Amino acid sequence: MTLTKLKKKVLKHICWLLFSLFTAMTFAGYFSPMNELFINVITLNTTITMAIILAFFTFATYGNAGWMREMVCLHMCPYARFQSAMFDKDTLTVSYDKNRGENRGPRGRKQDPKALGLGDCIDCNLCVEVCPTGIDIRDGLQYECINCGACVDACSDVMTRMQYDQGLIRYTTEHELQGKKVHLIRSKLIGYAVVLLIMTTMLVLEIANRVPLSLEIIRDRTELAKENFNGDIENVYTLKILNMSQTDNTYKLSVKGIENTKWHGKQEIMVKAAAVYTLPISISVDPYDLKGYMTDIAFTVEQISPESDVKIEHESRFFNKR
Ligand code: SF4
Ligand code: SF4
Repeated sequence: MTLTKLKKKVLKHICWLLFSLFTAMTFAGYFSPMNELFINVITLNTTITMAIILAFFTFATYGNAGWMREMVCLHMCPYARFQSAMFDKDTLTVSYDKNRGENRGPRGRKQDPKALGLGDCIDCNLCVEVCPTGIDIRDGLQYECINCGACVDACSDVMTRMQYDQGLIRYTTEHELQGKKVHLIRSKLIGYAVVLLIMTTMLVLEIANRVPLSLEIIRDRTELAKENFNGDIENVYTLKILNMSQTDNTYKLSVKGIENTKWHGKQEIMVKAAAVYTLPISISVDPYDLKGYMTDIAFTVEQISPESDVKIEHESRFFNKR
């Protein structure tokens, strides 16, 4: 360990950590406005919860991709387990052609393998060396194989150098390797295609019907209802309006479910693109208009500018004093 090497190592880990933080922010950005998040991280001004989430995902990426690497492929990734459940003898996968490759063994480039009783595998071990999960594909199909194809490329180079035919390790099926007929259309494949089609249709419908607006209502838990100076019953709410579109929009807010409600607070707000607006308000009602201890109400948020028919409704409750 020299000073130069130490500097390089420290720099490498700083780069890994920065990249991991970037991926953590990308993930957190699904749940929190990205622009704000970015500024808050740069200015070290995030909330404790967000700091814990970012730290968790940063170290998860740093640990998984930096240190554990193929251990993740071997012991944690569900891909291989999933694959083995979907496999059949006509599935295209990376395979070693045993009939052609065995007996394996070293030989000179000019020597005739047949005369030496050898197959095409020169036992150079390159396919094992390049394998990210460290398996030997010549031992047959293994769940650790992630079908990356690195061994295919390595072996193809060797075959070129030896002036043998390509494809000792190749994408092929078990049936083809056994010299049997390959069935392209199978019931399993049709089943997967149908499931995929249903899922794709559902996704397209979901995207087509997506409303780029969301409303969360948080009630004041400390005091469900209070009597104000007019003798009206008042309930306090915090409305969180999330503008999920790419433009700044103006929204109009209203409530329905009880006659003659009075709205205290802003009823028209501008929310920036991809931002959340937190609006504390209260609703008051003459007690004579209340029919019981609890009344169902609904808050409505309607986009008014730019003009659009985006409108959502969210149910809540209005409480009377006991
Ligand atoms: S790279 Fe090809 S030739 Fe070399 S050991 Fe693997 S299978 Fe044999
Ligand atoms: S396809 Fe990739 S994971 Fe599978 S044996 Fe070859 S190098 Fe290894």
